[in-house]
Amino acid sequence: MGLVVQKYGGSSVADAEGIKRVAKRIVEAKKNGHQVVVVVSAMGDTTDELIDLAEQVSPMPAGREFDMLLTAGERISMALLAMAIKNLGHEAQSFTGSQAGVITDSVHNKARIIDVTPGRIRTALDEGNIAIVAGFQGVSADKKDITTLGRGGSDTTAVALAAALDAEVCEIYTDVDGVFTADPRVVKKARKIDWIAFEDMLELASSGSKVLLHRCVEYARRYNIPIHVRSSFSGLQGTWVSSEPIEQGDKKVEQAIISGVAHDTSEAKITVVGVPDKPGEAASIFRAIANAEINIDMVVQNVSAVTTGLTDISFTLPKTEGRKAIDALEKNKTAIGFESLRYDDQIGKISLVGAGMKTNPGVTASFFEALSDAGVNIELISTSEIRISVVTRADDVPEAVRAVHTAFGLDSDSAEAVVYGGTGR
Ligand code: ADP
Ligand code: ASP
Ligand code: MG
Repeated sequence: MGLVVQKYGGSSVADAEGIKRVAKRIVEAKKNGHQVVVVVSAMGDTTDELIDLAEQVSPMPAGREFDMLLTAGERISMALLAMAIKNLGHEAQSFTGSQAGVITDSVHNKARIIDVTPGRIRTALDEGNIAIVAGFQGVSADKKDITTLGRGGSDTTAVALAAALDAEVCEIYTDVDGVFTADPRVVKKARKIDWIAFEDMLELASSGSKVLLHRCVEYARRYNIPIHVRSSFSGLQGTWVSSEPIEQGDKKVEQAIISGVAHDTSEAKITVVGVPDKPGEAASIFRAIANAEINIDMVVQNVSAVTTGLTDISFTLPKTEGRKAIDALEKNKTAIGFESLRYDDQIGKISLVGAGMKTNPGVTASFFEALSDAGVNIELISTSEIRISVVTRADDVPEAVRAVHTAFGLDSDSAEAVVYGGTGR
């Protein structure tokens, strides 16, 4: 029996009862002969509450202190979980990210893991302990400051530890039975996926399916760590995310043509109005944004008006970076030479993902037909080899997701998808 890494999300450890339930599950794995490393998130909505608190004290809290604050959430749950396990008669030790050897760069609030040195975890396991690690946090290589990995970052902690410890599998326990063909909170008829390839999962995750964080999937693909996404509230098999299809009976599960529909309402749109249509303009706009360390998503440039020679450039970015982006562009207004800026945070993005798109003509046409039949207006479009995304009004998103899900025959004809807990916040 090998080593397993199990990650429990906030909804799985939302209260004392949840912590006790999860502790039992962990002890079962240990009793089955596994060495068990557990990565745990902050309880329930603790991280959101800490963020709200920080914003009441300061509109733009310093990154270092913000990270110090947020990592407290995971510390609470790791200690309580270790206590609950000991109460069941088993040995457990909890570790902060730093103690577990999670080394990151020094970009506060969205640090990247650059190394994992889990010496203390190995020792704890060798001494017969269950090791509990606080997710979502690390320590910066240069300044030795505490960092966080960005929202949902415990998924990445789990996969990074699984890779460093050469685990058999990384199990991600959450409040739904696996990865579905759409968010079960929006589409009741969403279907559970038995197996999905890293590539498709990566596109779903980066298009807003927050059941797995895209960085975690990226990491798992790089080190070829199979992920098993499942519910901590049921004993059901979940979804396998790996490079090779899993076996079911004597058959291999086949790759679906369309894997699913993702949506995202966490982005905003900035339109730079009245940009001279000459070489170098887009470059200077996006250089200003890049210098502010902001990642952008979609970009669209309109045709310039013949009379003025001016054009508009729109792009999308995380809402959380909106203020910073506007400030960065305003500061460079004269150098870039645009007329004004428009900010719109009432947008949503819907994406259709599937490797089969490459070889099946008509997918794009059917996607647009489904949106048009639902009366949804499209504002921006972007595509990759295996994904089509559109930006619409935020209010249209639920209806649009359901329409596309039905149009591609993804609706399940059996029971409704279950959401066991969590507020979806
Ligand atoms: P955790 O607290 O366990 O990290 P998250 O809230 O981060 O849980 O992720 C689980 C949630 O992801 C589900 O409750 C569900 O609403 C959402 N979700 C979005 N897209 C999907 C999808 N395609 N399949 C399953 N869940 C999804
Ligand atoms: N607690 C952090 C968050 O809410 C990290 C995580 O849950 O993965 O984003
Ligand atoms: Mg999560």
